[in-house]
Amino acid sequence: MDRRTLLRRAGLGVLGLGVAGCAPRGGAIGVARPRRDLAPVFASWDRVIRTTVGHRPHRPSGFVLRPERLDDTLLVHNYGHGGSGMSLSWGTAQMAAELALARETRVAAVIGCGVAGLTTARQLQRRGFDVTIYAAEVPPNTTSNMSLAGWTPTSGLVEDDRRTPAWDADFRRAARIAYTELQLLVGRGYGVSWLDGYALRGTRPDDAEGEGASLLPDDLQAGATILGPGEHPFPTPWAVLRPSLRIEPSIYLDRLVADVRDAGGSIVIRRFGSKAELAALDQPVVVNCTGLGARDLVDDPELIPLKGQLTLLMPQPEVDYSTFGAASPTAGGFVHMSPRADGIALGGTSVAGDWSLEPDEEARRRIVEAHIDLFGRMG
Ligand SMILES: Cc1cc2nc3c(=O)[nH]c(=O)nc-3n(C[C@H](O)[C@H](O)[C@H](O)COP(=O)(O)OP(=O)(O)OC[C@H]3O[C@@H](n4cnc5c(N)ncnc54)[C@H](O)[C@@H]3O)c2cc1C
Repeated sequence: MDRRTLLRRAGLGVLGLGVAGCAPRGGAIGVARPRRDLAPVFASWDRVIRTTVGHRPHRPSGFVLRPERLDDTLLVHNYGHGGSGMSLSWGTAQMAAELALARETRVAAVIGCGVAGLTTARQLQRRGFDVTIYAAEVPPNTTSNMSLAGWTPTSGLVEDDRRTPAWDADFRRAARIAYTELQLLVGRGYGVSWLDGYALRGTRPDDAEGEGASLLPDDLQAGATILGPGEHPFPTPWAVLRPSLRIEPSIYLDRLVADVRDAGGSIVIRRFGSKAELAALDQPVVVNCTGLGARDLVDDPELIPLKGQLTLLMPQPEVDYSTFGAASPTAGGFVHMSPRADGIALGGTSVAGDWSLEPDEEARRRIVEAHIDLFGRMG
């Protein structure tokens, strides 16, 4: 494995953005330009403007992408993206649309108006389909709106012992399609952009870690730069800099809604209670993009929520980087900061099986205090 590959493999940890390992001995090496002129985040309790909660739709064996016959209806499933739906959706949407092409008709219903439903509608429209989206909730009230949302194509997605070669192949194809689609939206008013991310480390990233089989092909993320003491403004000795794609959910989802409508699609507010109700629709092709809702709708008990919450601080347009980790492990463990137009998003929670949509006050306190500590000590 060459040095470039080692650097690319660094950073496949939690969120797909932290540093799992693999770094050269020594200081700044890599493709990104280290900067010391980063604007500090003004982290304080009086700048907190809201806390949001969402349920990542997790399935231990990964997303579901398959066709099913329901009498005369072709039902295509596209759900269960865990903490990776904002990253992967263009890819699984294209693959779902390809499954829909098995029928001669070019009239389809899409169930769900989160990121999976909206991108599936667009991929169907690109292939000539007349699309109606049916959904119980639409933006800004979907889980997708509660997302961070970085390029984290493997986060909370699948458990290694449940992966199959066929699922892995689907994942890799979906990730490759999505990575390109998202890049093509940068600079076009979709709220998609490149952002420098700094993973903060108390110890030097170890080049013995992180060489296990990774789901994500090396070329589907930018290379990393290892920064040593004095080479970055953070209070940890080490930081790993990696540019990454970032999506601003409220801008992005509204643009997708507009695109679906501009291409002739319509959106109907409706909640479905059973597969029989789906089969009774006029459209001969139905694509199920209901996220966690699929648990009851199509009886998939494997789906569980990974509860996550974000606390937003007042926006600071001058903050043009993200961070992963705290100033010291005791200050808060797994935490992250990402700036966007609607606020500075602070997060760091993933609780399996927690169906509550109420903010966890203890987690909120841990995450805000960790960032007050971090940015209070930034040089
Ligand atoms: C805190 C947090 C941080 C996250 N960070 C990231 C990140 O950094 N990167 C990333 O890629 N992903 C991230 N995610 C995960 C991402 O948000 C999800 O994977 C994604 O939003 C799932 O999209 P979806 O369209 O499948 O589901 P949803 O957005 O939940 O949409 C489901 C749609 O189906 C509809 N529906 C459900 N049931 C029914 C029914 N019975 N009848 C009619 N309609 C129904 C709903 O109303 C909704 O319109 C994060 C999530 C959270 C909560």
